[in-house]
Amino acid sequence: MGRQSEAEKAGLLLAAARYLNETLEPGRVYDRFHELLTDAVPHAGVVVSSFDAETGLISCEYAWVDGEKLDPAILPPLPLNREGGGMQSRVIVGGEPLLVNDVPEQVKQPGGVYYDVDREGKLRKVPEEGAPGVRAAMMLPVKLEGEVVGVVQLHNADTEYDEEQLELAEGLVGLMAAAARNARLHQTAQAEAAARARAETVAAAREHAARVLEAVGDGVFLLDDGGRVGFWNRAAELVTGRFGEDVHGRPVSEVFESWDRIADEIPVSESSIAARPVTLPIDVEGRELWLSFVAVHMPGGVVYAFRDLTVERGLEQAKSEFIATISHELRTPMTAVLGAAKTLLRTDIQLSPERRRELLEMIGAQGTRLTQITEEVLIASRSISLRVKGESNGATAIGDRNRIEQVLVNLIDNAVKYSPRGGQVIVSAEETPAAVRVEVRDEGLGIPLAEQDAIFEKFYRHDAHQTHVTGGTGLGLYICRELVRRMDGKIGVHSQPGVGSTFFFELPRA
Ligand code: ADP
Repeated sequence: MGRQSEAEKAGLLLAAARYLNETLEPGRVYDRFHELLTDAVPHAGVVVSSFDAETGLISCEYAWVDGEKLDPAILPPLPLNREGGGMQSRVIVGGEPLLVNDVPEQVKQPGGVYYDVDREGKLRKVPEEGAPGVRAAMMLPVKLEGEVVGVVQLHNADTEYDEEQLELAEGLVGLMAAAARNARLHQTAQAEAAARARAETVAAAREHAARVLEAVGDGVFLLDDGGRVGFWNRAAELVTGRFGEDVHGRPVSEVFESWDRIADEIPVSESSIAARPVTLPIDVEGRELWLSFVAVHMPGGVVYAFRDLTVERGLEQAKSEFIATISHELRTPMTAVLGAAKTLLRTDIQLSPERRRELLEMIGAQGTRLTQITEEVLIASRSISLRVKGESNGATAIGDRNRIEQVLVNLIDNAVKYSPRGGQVIVSAEETPAAVRVEVRDEGLGIPLAEQDAIFEKFYRHDAHQTHVTGGTGLGLYICRELVRRMDGKIGVHSQPGVGSTFFFELPRA
């Protein structure tokens, strides 16, 4: 290639600037730089290295030797020699380009490390492993804002370089540095945008998960490796009565007083599929709660989910207590009935007619008792809601407290007994000018108009009710009427079959 005029040089540099800046990929910037060099400065090899001021290392970024592009990784990174030994180090420290036309002599200088690489990428240390394959070399600093950030080396096997070529190469290196920096900034910006988008996606997913956790009915909390609360959802707040902001960062034993005692009983599984719940009693603010816990390991801690089973537990307990009581209650009359029946059936002994009668009577009496118990159980299992209406307004009546209580118990008992489908029983009291009136209203079977007087008679029972309630005597209302009469009051009923009954009694005001 011949020597260029200043104008040609300027034109070449201008075209180079355009060409280099057309790409935003650092690797391609080096390729184009080399392409431009091929036309401008003859060379057998070109190596672009970067210099990292922090690590003090010079690393190869681009290498081209004898027509072959080499993997830059084959050239080992070299530490900068601050004393200026070695040609690259001298350029980096001094910031000035170097033109050497006696490379074989230079590499013999102490303090430098030199490699010679051939087109196959074979690396030789020179001059120890033989003379270098080049004669002339140019070393050009790559600068960014006045700092040297790299070196470009050009080698020639047998032709020398001159100042003019050095100047042109310097110009091209400057343009290449600007284009490479541009490309790198673009790449960094793109990587940052991608990282931001990824972070936003992760944040959105986290927020979504947090909202789901807030909404679930189970209490969920996270304990870090130090046993401190890291997350505490809404349900956890509701069950324990402790707010997330109060418990965050505190040891969980401050919330669950008996935590240290129960923690070992909750198995912590590695996956939520294998998690097994355990129900444990635990004190929370002075209350005993039965909580069903599940625990799963996760990086940095353990996630616990819990469900409040206190009510269910209470029901279970009441149920088993009820069954225990009932079986105990049934056992006594049953044993008596069985014993009497067995004795009656014995053939080996002679029973007097009197004894036989006694035994049969006992069977009859205990049989009635059994029926009553069953009746009570049936009534107890009915979902009746009892409500007392009307505020106590200070009205007082003349009467005997015990007798009034007996009347009330009888009326309420009947209201429940004759409401086989459940419903409400409302007890209310009100003042009239001369009396205090108490009402017991139910939503039960009701009584036909024709029978409404008769039910207050001794031993009277309404036929149609016998199927629902077997344990009655027909004495309850008769006793009520007698008690109320003796207190100078009156008793009565309004009722509609199928709708319900309202029994009332009135006592004179005090
Ligand atoms: P018992 O309930 O033992 O049969 P009571 O004297 O208390 O005797 O009641 C007499 C009858 O009046 C009952 O058998 C029943 O037919 C009817 N009776 C009482 N209270 C009610 C009520 N609240 N609803 C419907 N019928 C009732």
